[in-house]
Amino acid sequence: VRPRAFVSRDWDTGAVTLDFALRGVAEERYGAPYITAHRGDLQLALYEALKPGSVRLGKLLRNIELGGNAIDLFFSDGTRAEADVVIGADGVHSRIREILLGPEEPIYTGHVAHRSIIPMERFDGHVFEDTTKWWHPDLHIVVYYITSNRSHIYLVSGVPEPEWPQDEWAVAGDPDAVRAAFGGFHDEVQLLLSRCTNVVNWAILERKPFELWAEGPLVLLGDACHPMKPHMGQGAAMAIEDAAMLVRCMTQHPTDFGYAFEVYAANRRDRTAKVQHFSHNNDWLQHAETSNPDWVFGYDVFTEPLLTPNTSLKFAD
Ligand SMILES: Cc1cc2nc3c(=O)[nH]c(=O)nc-3n(C[C@H](O)[C@H](O)[C@H](O)COP(=O)(O)OP(=O)(O)OC[C@H]3O[C@@H](n4cnc5c(N)ncnc54)[C@H](O)[C@@H]3O)c2cc1C
Repeated sequence: VRPRAFVSRDWDTGAVTLDFALRGVAEERYGAPYITAHRGDLQLALYEALKPGSVRLGKLLRNIELGGNAIDLFFSDGTRAEADVVIGADGVHSRIREILLGPEEPIYTGHVAHRSIIPMERFDGHVFEDTTKWWHPDLHIVVYYITSNRSHIYLVSGVPEPEWPQDEWAVAGDPDAVRAAFGGFHDEVQLLLSRCTNVVNWAILERKPFELWAEGPLVLLGDACHPMKPHMGQGAAMAIEDAAMLVRCMTQHPTDFGYAFEVYAANRRDRTAKVQHFSHNNDWLQHAETSNPDWVFGYDVFTEPLLTPNTSLKFAD
């Protein structure tokens, strides 16, 4: 979906505090559309861009061993593989990160995200704004369409929850508990939640920015090196930018990938640390007067001047 705008509204009065036009405007201003999508559709688009046979599913990496010229990868099904380099794009609980930096659990932020997808046929013709974030001082809910024919609408919340006792990162939730959490919210939110029949609760996890993203033939990207609160909707975007920068650096240094990884890390650490910081604070795009998203949307990974590898992390939280 190319949303008309990103709209911020007060949780109870519904007063619009920001209406940032996107459709047509993002193309003009940033050279690309702003799109909301179902995660599966994005994954399929990425998958279809690969050479057939590039992806092997059902392989859980347990360990790696750095040998002479190659890296041995060992999987939970007893199989092994050999590689020249390993890109650890294995998420917030990254095994590759653990191998590089040692074990360290991500930080539970004291917030959960409820997520649900609701078929629009349940709303008797009611039409929602394309993308809205409802802001309360302590909690929020973001609502947007995820199919181009607007057949399904998605919601994701951020709600304080001091403890996350479960071992799992995500568990089945209770729609009534979500309705209770948002009980005082505007009628539009009540309508939305009244048709919600299933919900998944996610622990919101993050890590502090860290320097070491690469060593020798190992390199990290995405949530493996900069997991963040999802409150800017930029986590996957940052992972994709990382991947594009990694390709740029590997293409520039095709005979020395170790060096390419250092250049890559030097050119991504500050930007992702800044996005982590703003995601953590959760006030981005709340008010028109204080919102200029150009630094996020206007970044072009292919034209950014490249920094040299010895640049250390400057953006301090
Ligand atoms: C509630 C919530 C809402 C979010 N909303 C948004 C949003 O609206 N927009 C946005 O841009 N981002 C959003 N994000 C963030 C986004 O999901 C992540 O930033 C993004 O998925 C990171 O991509 P990644 O490839 O680094 O990691 P992941 O998407 O986590 O992928 C890691 C992959 O590695 C695999 N893996 C892990 N360990 C191993 C192993 N040992 N061996 C083999 N494979 C392994 C996993 O199975 C998984 O497929 C949200 C996150 C949460 C929790």
